[in-house]
Amino acid sequence: MKLPLNTEKARRAAAHPKRPGMNCRAAPGEWVPVVDRNRCEGKRDCVEVCPENVFEVRRIDDADFDALSLLGKVKSVVHGRLTAYTPHADGCRACGLCVVACPEDAITLVRGA
Ligand code: SF4
Ligand code: SF4
Repeated sequence: MKLPLNTEKARRAAAHPKRPGMNCRAAPGEWVPVVDRNRCEGKRDCVEVCPENVFEVRRIDDADFDALSLLGKVKSVVHGRLTAYTPHADGCRACGLCVVACPEDAITLVRGA
């Protein structure tokens, strides 16, 4: 089920001069977002702007927590151990909105498999 977009945040992201990607013209899964968990603070802007419902913010998996840097662990604990996962990455159309909407610069678009 698609969640309603935060249209104000999505509008601002769409107008961002550094918005990367292919303006939703990529085939689904051609590009995928990668989240840097040392930067992510679980703020959900990605969830709020993604038109393809790619993201989910939830408690970080133990293995991912263990892989964080010391600073990343401290940040994670401060932010309730929340982080963004991409359960529907195969739906990404490379609109680039999440990349510029993320306040922590935690998202990069990379070529999918
Ligand atoms: S990736 Fe960025 S926008 Fe998404 S939850 Fe993490 S900090 Fe927030
Ligand atoms: S670039 Fe980001 S916001 Fe756009 S479809 Fe892909 S994951 Fe969603």
